Amino acid sequence: MIIKLKNNVLPSEIEEIKNHLISKGFGIHESIGKSTVIIGVIGDTTIIDPNSLYAYEFVDTVLRVQEPFKKVNRKFKPEDTVVDVGGVKIGGKNIVIMGGPCAVESNQQIDEITPMVIEAGAKILRGGAYKPRTSPYSFQGLEQEGLEILNRAKNKYGIPVVSEIMNIEDIDDFVKNVDLIQVGARNMQNFALLKELGKINKPILLKRGIANTIEEWLMSAEYILAGGNTNVILCERGIRTFETSTRNTLDISAIPVIKKLSHLPIVIDPSHAAGRWEYIESLSLAAIAAGADGLIIEVHQNPEIALSDGQQSLKPHKFSSLIAKCRKVAEAIDRTLEEFD
Ligand code: PEP
Ligand code: MN
Repeated sequence: MIIKLKNNVLPSEIEEIKNHLISKGFGIHESIGKSTVIIGVIGDTTIIDPNSLYAYEFVDTVLRVQEPFKKVNRKFKPEDTVVDVGGVKIGGKNIVIMGGPCAVESNQQIDEITPMVIEAGAKILRGGAYKPRTSPYSFQGLEQEGLEILNRAKNKYGIPVVSEIMNIEDIDDFVKNVDLIQVGARNMQNFALLKELGKINKPILLKRGIANTIEEWLMSAEYILAGGNTNVILCERGIRTFETSTRNTLDISAIPVIKKLSHLPIVIDPSHAAGRWEYIESLSLAAIAAGADGLIIEVHQNPEIALSDGQQSLKPHKFSSLIAKCRKVAEAIDRTLEEFD
């Protein structure tokens, strides 16, 4: 971190800020020019909020030369992290597709859709049991019963399952019933929840918040890793922009940026990005071409009567042909999309 002091800074003020930094355990590299004083801060500056230094009236500019995140940083761990989700590896050469309904609606629905998503080529079943709906009058999910339905499907069909958590009190239930715990966009900065998820070792699918920067998203992942849970998969699901043709704007750039900054795997959710089923295929192919480690897609056998997000859910045959096309893109960039285990 580099701190440039104002031109009229007094020697006593230089001492004041130096002593402050030294008392926090940092080394100091000082450069005193005719009119410019620059202080280089040496050490692990992730614990300093650069903005807090502007409280000193004689501080002119603070520049970070190190990212504020440590454990998720590729500089800290150069090799890619591979997360094992119930035997399915995410983050390696193989691209993993997750599919299933937005919400678990009944045991019969899951019993019908699960063999269809497996047949199409999906390796993980998705289904929301606790739904963060914008309206309190919309279907809120089957809650605990929904988790148990997923768990039954997992045992019956041998496919790992992912579902979204909203409350700390439900962590034990999620650990018992699912293989991958999703933190949804609305909870990306629920730091109390992230801290608790850091204490377990179940894999976490951390979605990017609706209006969060990549740095804020990585800082949220840092909360989980800082607690000791290194099994984190990032998920870009579109961010809010001025554009209204789609539900959100898929930030494809997030893929190469995350790959540069972090060792964590990144998957794309084209369903919540597009908000319309007809755009999902293009976004999926683009995501794989750009280097995503997987996709999570909403699939429903009867989207017209889905209790949640039918408009952005693919019918199983469309999901199947989409995966076949994704496989070709994967091969073109020297990756694989395994058909069978
Ligand atoms: C979901 O996956 O069903 C969901 C609500 O996602 P997001 O948090 O990305 O909106
Ligand atoms: Mn949904």
